[in-house]
Amino acid sequence: MDYSDLVRVYVALSSTTKRLEKTHIVSGFLRDIPVVEMEHVIRLLQGKVFPNWDSRTLGFSSQLALKALARASGASDEEIMRAWKELGDLGKVAAKLVVNKRQATLFSEKLTTQKVYNNLRKLAGLEGQGVVNTKVSLVSELLSSASPDEAIFILRTTLEDLRIGLGEGTLRDAIVWAFENEHIGIKYDSEKNDIVLPDDDRKIYDETVEKYQEAYDLSNDFSRVAIIAKTEGIAGLANITLMPGTPVKVMLFQKAPTMKEALETVTVPAAIEYKYDGFRMQIHKNSDGIKIFTRRLENVTEQFPDVVKIVSEHVKGSSFILDGEAVGIDVKTGKYIAFQNIGQRIRRKYDIEELGKRFPVELDIFDVLFYEGENLVHQPFSRRREVLMKSLPKNAAGVVSLATQEIVDTEEKAQAFYERSLAAGNEGVMVKNLNSVYKPGSRVGFGMKVKPVLETLEVVIVGAEYGEGKRSEWLATFVIAVRDPDTDNLLEIGRVGTGFKEKDEEGVSFNQMTIALKQLVVREEDRFVHVKPDIIIEVHYEEIQKSPTYSSGYALRFPRFVRLREDRSVEDISTIEDVERFYKVQRGRQTS
Ligand code: AMP
Repeated sequence: MDYSDLVRVYVALSSTTKRLEKTHIVSGFLRDIPVVEMEHVIRLLQGKVFPNWDSRTLGFSSQLALKALARASGASDEEIMRAWKELGDLGKVAAKLVVNKRQATLFSEKLTTQKVYNNLRKLAGLEGQGVVNTKVSLVSELLSSASPDEAIFILRTTLEDLRIGLGEGTLRDAIVWAFENEHIGIKYDSEKNDIVLPDDDRKIYDETVEKYQEAYDLSNDFSRVAIIAKTEGIAGLANITLMPGTPVKVMLFQKAPTMKEALETVTVPAAIEYKYDGFRMQIHKNSDGIKIFTRRLENVTEQFPDVVKIVSEHVKGSSFILDGEAVGIDVKTGKYIAFQNIGQRIRRKYDIEELGKRFPVELDIFDVLFYEGENLVHQPFSRRREVLMKSLPKNAAGVVSLATQEIVDTEEKAQAFYERSLAAGNEGVMVKNLNSVYKPGSRVGFGMKVKPVLETLEVVIVGAEYGEGKRSEWLATFVIAVRDPDTDNLLEIGRVGTGFKEKDEEGVSFNQMTIALKQLVVREEDRFVHVKPDIIIEVHYEEIQKSPTYSSGYALRFPRFVRLREDRSVEDISTIEDVERFYKVQRGRQTS
């Protein structure tokens, strides 16, 4: 396929904010894509070149993009910097330079989607100093043949910042509209921006969407889902199942303001468990060995040789997928330690063994998705727990154990367990429905967390500003955002500058933040930088207020940085719904 055909779709999607219109545009486009091109075209449509379960990134910074632009256009560094200052967006800079260049050269090769995909995929394997030239060549080759519009989207894809507002839900619906239409007969009414269904009956439609969502949750790969939809239809989706070795999205939980509400949502009798304060680990074993993934589905097997050893020595079974928490343990006292200390193990590339000895972890397993050939996600939680009981050792506390659990039927019993959990050094408790299935990727009410401090949010940094005086070399104020789950848009909710340190030895410092954020810059305006949303932080605040200043409609009063959340991705930060819920709870407290 010509890359220009895909670019037309990007442009159309960028020109509307209506979700149904976007669905209509994408579904029309998908219908005509040949099966052999489906895989890469869908990935590019998502601004990616790898499926979601593959955590490889392109590692192409804006600095490299400037080099690629210089090489492709022949423009000088000064010209490019000037254009960047003036236009703000590197994609637009590329478009402008490409126009100039095109006037000078009459011939350029027509770009195909396959060519763009192949070149970008090659970027991912390249690391280290010596590879800069190769990386720059791969991108400048594409830019040399690009039209202005193509150049914009090549650059944005390369910087992993496509910005066409195509959320996962919209892409899923577009696949359904494209390939299930004979079966459900859906029509899009563009005037009313609404859908028309035969006899106004949504049941078949909703059920179909649900099946596609499930297929996506299990495979984590829209290309695979679309190819099956096109070649086999909905019946083929049943063949998508879990495979140890390929990570799957984890099930998420909702925050409950009180124990009473947690029990009401989950219903009694309920399972109540310690909520360990570490980070999530999904542990896979098959004939190839053991693999460990974070909740961002990053493969961290190399970073945790100690965990691989623990699992191979203590967990029974030859193939499984376990869900659990790795909690830091103080080497001297055997007590739990704070997340910050073990968080740094996630990204570590050197001195891995040494760091593992300094910050050992205990594994607490609370769920199982697959065991000895059997997919367990549709089984009730109580049955999954039985499988865990048989596969985990009883006497390996401090190394690996089954999450401490009790079955409760009253608030008093739940409250007593909660207090014991806090006394044991945990963050709170998880309250879980005994009959629930395992729903990958969803924040369903099958489990509710209850923690003493409600007033923290997990937010992503979307921009930053250089400080003043002695902080003028550092990015010192950070614009933070929550997520709108319906559109995947990020909504700003405040600026935070307190809680960071001036010296690296004292904790997370401005200097460290500046180094990390500089890699992510997509636009600069004077002392302000817009960054790719990648760094997740937890912030504490005094109060949530309504505010017209920020796009969320809310602002945090006295926000304060608490800790980095290396284990989180943008998909699992706090949502605008969380903010609305906390806002209401806080108002309830003030009036009571
Ligand atoms: P939160 O991080 O506040 O969203 O709470 C959910 C997280 O708590 C999960 O993603 C797990 O990493 C962690 N967790 C700790 N103990 C448990 C448990 N017993 N059951 C489920 N999740 C747990």
